Amino acid sequence: MQPLSNLPVEGVRALLFDLDGTLVDEQLGASAYASLHAARDAGLRTIAVTGRPAGWCDLMARWWPLDGVVGENGALVMRLVDGKLQCSDWQIAEDPVNRLMGLWDTVYAAFPDAQLAADQPWRSHDLAIDFAEEASLGLEWASSVAEFVRAQGARAAISSIHVNCWFGDWDKLAMSERLLTELELLPEACVYVGDSPNDAPMFHAFERSVGVASVTSYGDLLEHPPHYVTKSDGGAGFAEVVAHITR
Ligand SMILES: [Mg+2]
Repeated sequence: MQPLSNLPVEGVRALLFDLDGTLVDEQLGASAYASLHAARDAGLRTIAVTGRPAGWCDLMARWWPLDGVVGENGALVMRLVDGKLQCSDWQIAEDPVNRLMGLWDTVYAAFPDAQLAADQPWRSHDLAIDFAEEASLGLEWASSVAEFVRAQGARAAISSIHVNCWFGDWDKLAMSERLLTELELLPEACVYVGDSPNDAPMFHAFERSVGVASVTSYGDLLEHPPHYVTKSDGGAGFAEVVAHITR
């Protein structure tokens, strides 16, 4: 990982970024949010790519300075088109609710201290198991749960707070690529900023991928590290990236 100062900024047209642990710390800080506005004011397209639920993406797509929000780790994308909210799902082959609830029963039987994330009611396509938002169960515990979930035939990704589980072939990268095509943006013209293992496909795919400082704490759990790293954590790290690109 190289320092952010080495990131080439020529030809950058879009900023894609994770939310929890990246743009957002315990709360969305004023300077991080101001940086998001600054990025857009500088002419960059801004795209949030998060594991957070559909219900939250609706609000962000409508109210935040964004060109799109990829939600639930790639299950869906929302954006305003001519003032109207457009939502596309990756696929709707079947209603996933029964299958996900069956998976939850199996997980709960094996990990009795597991709890669903508080934002589960606003999710359409996945199951979020809390390990570090309201729970304090640790990364090792999260990693065991993710492994168990994969053994049940589902996919699992670890964020800074949740283990997200789903049945389907999407991830953050697959849906982001679909959105970039729609917006006529090439991956080479994008910078991606993230912080944790569920960002690994993005870190790998984007030549200009940046991790905020805390990304170094995941060790082997991070399948692909970012190419560049900031000095600060979370929102301050995000602000560093915007300042560097728009300098
Ligand atoms: Mg994150």
